[in-house]
Amino acid sequence: MISFYPGPSRVHDEIPRYVKDAHSLGIMSVNHRSEDFIRMSKTTVGLLKEKLRIPKSYTVLFTGSATECWEILAQSIITEGSLHLFNGAFGQKWFDYTSRLQPAAQALRFQVNELADVHRINDQKDQLICVTQNETSTGTQVTNALIRKIKKNNPGSLVAVDATSSMAGIYLDFKAADFWYASVQKCFGLPAGLAILVCSPAAVEKAKAINERKHYNSLPFMLDMMDLWQTPFTPNVLGIYLLMRVLEQSKSIDETNAITVQRYEDWKEFLGERKMISHFIQNEKVHSHTVLPVHAEAETMKLIKKEARLNGMLLGEGYGEFKPETFRIANFPALKDKEITVLRKFLKKY
Ligand SMILES: *Cc1c(COP(=O)(O)O)cnc(C)c1O
Repeated sequence: MISFYPGPSRVHDEIPRYVKDAHSLGIMSVNHRSEDFIRMSKTTVGLLKEKLRIPKSYTVLFTGSATECWEILAQSIITEGSLHLFNGAFGQKWFDYTSRLQPAAQALRFQVNELADVHRINDQKDQLICVTQNETSTGTQVTNALIRKIKKNNPGSLVAVDATSSMAGIYLDFKAADFWYASVQKCFGLPAGLAILVCSPAAVEKAKAINERKHYNSLPFMLDMMDLWQTPFTPNVLGIYLLMRVLEQSKSIDETNAITVQRYEDWKEFLGERKMISHFIQNEKVHSHTVLPVHAEAETMKLIKKEARLNGMLLGEGYGEFKPETFRIANFPALKDKEITVLRKFLKKY
């Protein structure tokens, strides 16, 4: 079965070999306070910075999931309030989750076919401005340029970005925001259970000034431990090892970005030529490069999903309210050209 699900998604072919290596090298039982772990953690952070072009001055933390990052930010960074700019289910979940811990959270929704309305957010003081860079549920994205604009217009606030389904798939301008996070079961092409949280120097400074230390994953604890290349809890050591091995082999983000964008262009053209299916989002300017939502009549949709399965392909279900008339196709780096060709051949008749 070829998985085109936009997370958990197809993992890199080398994963079984790396898991075997991890076992024979004793990685699965390595102590997370040992020199061996510290060396691996340091190498992995170095590779993330090098391959994804994360500034040297930024700090990279290991967490368990993107959802955990929502909680860390809500408990350790938000003091006055937060502004959530979103157009889909993941932005909504981030907002809902934050509201429960910090009732001053405000939702700024925008339509799926519209550019994120960043002009609504100006001169905000002491807010956490929360942006879902790639909204996996709607297949739309907020560009680096718009995120830069938010940052520039709000020097008194920090900006946090959910890049769960785009980090390691497209180039992200890390300088344009203070927190960036992603779990690894999407564009990284790894099994679930690990996420990374990237923090700017201003973010680190703010976390230390607030100094919230009530939780096992309070940001100041995480930062203190990362000074020693460690985590407050026993982390997903195997996940970190697999991430390191995958990064060692991976192309620079600029090369990967070029491939992702080209594949997206090819998909867009292909969908444009179909009669019964089409790209779900009319405004090309907001198209995600890593998740393609496809629209069809409910009947056709049922048929496509069933036939795809019979032909060994797993398509992503539509999400939320769009479920009956959409499916989603992951455009993640681990997918191969020949697999994409197989799916196109299948979809050609629609
Ligand atoms: C998948 C996803 C999440 C949730 O990730 P978990 O690792 O399950 O916590 C959050 N945000 C976006 C945009 C996602 O695509």
